[in-house]
Amino acid sequence: MGKIALAIHGGAGTILRSQMTEELEREYRSGLEAALKAGRAVLEKGGPSLEAVEAAVVSLEDFPLFNAGRGSVFTSEGKNEMDAALMDGRTLKAGAVAFVRNVRNPIRLAREVMERTGHVLLAGEGANQFAAEVHAEMAPDEYFFTEHRWLQLQDAIADGRVQLDHAGKIPDSKFQIAGADLESGISNLESSANPQSQIPNPKSRGTVGAVACDKNGSLAAATSTGGMTNKKFGRIGDTPLIGAGTYADDLCAVSCTGHGEYFMLGVSAYDVSARMRYKGLSLEDAARETIERLTEINGEGGLIAVDTKGNVTLPFNSEGMYRGHITGNDNLMVVEIYK
Ligand code: ASP
Repeated sequence: MGKIALAIHGGAGTILRSQMTEELEREYRSGLEAALKAGRAVLEKGGPSLEAVEAAVVSLEDFPLFNAGRGSVFTSEGKNEMDAALMDGRTLKAGAVAFVRNVRNPIRLAREVMERTGHVLLAGEGANQFAAEVHAEMAPDEYFFTEHRWLQLQDAIADGRVQLDHAGKIPDSKFQIAGADLESGISNLESSANPQSQIPNPKSRGTVGAVACDKNGSLAAATSTGGMTNKKFGRIGDTPLIGAGTYADDLCAVSCTGHGEYFMLGVSAYDVSARMRYKGLSLEDAARETIERLTEINGEGGLIAVDTKGNVTLPFNSEGMYRGHITGNDNLMVVEIYK
């Protein structure tokens, strides 16, 4: 049996110790540990990496503090519209959904897209019709209602901001996203711009993801998100886009988190694999270079990645990233938040 590996994330951004209470940190850690346990249980039984990443992401989607599934942020209309993707590196098959509403676990629906359709990505009404057809488990609006997300939306509306679920740098170079209106905040990542905000900054973190290597050396990646607070115009980020926020093949599996537009422009998840394949780099060097490239184009965030030997790397250029992985012969859990 080869070495199994599993890594997860719960979002990257400006996560300041000064804004974190002990209790909140404990909650985050318990959410990450529960997800690691769910994924590890699959791998230790000899199950496939695809099952493991799905199990880990379902656990993170069910945990209300992360921006995915139950804890998803609100759109400008006060709805939750979620995106998710997963990819099986062994078969190079992938499934993804975008803008789904009331689907309890969007990652499960992404799996159905992969298994039951000849397509990779279904979006909006069609994706919701598909959810009904495959009897995906649905949940009422109240299930997705979390007070801190609602307050976050009111805050964003008051400031006229479309807000990523983490704070960061405002793009200011030749790589600035065309058309981004920094004044009205379409690229303003500062989630605590309103000093009167009642929302503790750290509460607002959290796209989630998982990558795994099973005992056969097969790889898989999964990512799930509620996107941006107060989003409109059908904005989709990198999460459900294969190659941008999620990717897996015979070399590595990658799940990204951060300012999605830059991960799309950098094709970041695929970039790790390309650097390994074309430059012959190790997983760690390839992932480091991908994050260096992200920094060059003014993007902020991080990624988690594994290779077929069970190596794991979790680089990021933000202040912090909620993250965890298993390590050693006993597959002990390591959970970290800050740099
Ligand atoms: N990448 C996600 C998006 O842009 C957000 C995140 O990772 O927090 O939709």
